Amino acid sequence: QQDVDDYRKSLAIRVSGFDVPKPIKVFKDCAFSTALMKAITKQGYEKPTAIQCQALPVGLSGRDIIGIAKTGSGKTAAFVLPMIVHIMDQPELTKEEGPIGVICAPTRELAHQIFLEAKKFAKLNGIRVAAVYGGMSKLDQFKELKAGCEIVVATPGRLIDLLKMKALTMMKATYLVLDEADRMFDLGFEPQIRSIVGQIRPDRQTLLFSATMPYKVEKLAREILSDPVRVAVGEVG
Ligand code: ADP
Ligand code: MG
Repeated sequence: QQDVDDYRKSLAIRVSGFDVPKPIKVFKDCAFSTALMKAITKQGYEKPTAIQCQALPVGLSGRDIIGIAKTGSGKTAAFVLPMIVHIMDQPELTKEEGPIGVICAPTRELAHQIFLEAKKFAKLNGIRVAAVYGGMSKLDQFKELKAGCEIVVATPGRLIDLLKMKALTMMKATYLVLDEADRMFDLGFEPQIRSIVGQIRPDRQTLLFSATMPYKVEKLAREILSDPVRVAVGEVG
């Protein structure tokens, strides 16, 4: 335990919550599939960043996460890699349609960046990723969703529009990510986030990531996550 505390300290990681899984030192500690390890190497990721060292084992254990680390610290892979494993672990195709993983991001640029990163890890595993955000044709996105996907990356407003149009169902969704939660709040998306969360089954795994953690964001997180592990890296949060 002292070793674990020292290791966390050396990476400026602070954790809170019950039974927090131990941080990893190398990607190999996660026992990823060969395909996923190949994708990680292909990305040029030699070793996990601090947030990844702690958030990956927590996410892989199925726990909810409040993750706080500054921009550029590798938060995307910290939620995308456990999402891929979660999807690969699902029993063979049920008749239900719709994504298993849902990622919400505040802007179309961010949604697009996450889409690109998720695709790199998903492709080798035969997982389909769709991106839906404003400024693109709703009809095209409707068709893309109807064609099927396991992961959807979306801005909140557009996702709600498409849910209303019945372009997708959340019946199979069991892994929800709210990325850049502070910015989604600043942009006034709290009602949309609450609406989306309300449409996803309560036994989902929920991960909320942010560069900062103002009180109102922490409060929302405590409402919609269950028994989360809080991971903060550096001076933030
Ligand atoms: P954040 O969401 O925290 O702002 P990103 O997930 O966008 O950060 O990652 C920032 C950059 O770091 C991206 O270019 C990403 O590909 C790269 N990156 C992420 N993880 C690693 C890693 N383990 N090793 C090297 N580069 C990484
Ligand atoms: Mg990010």
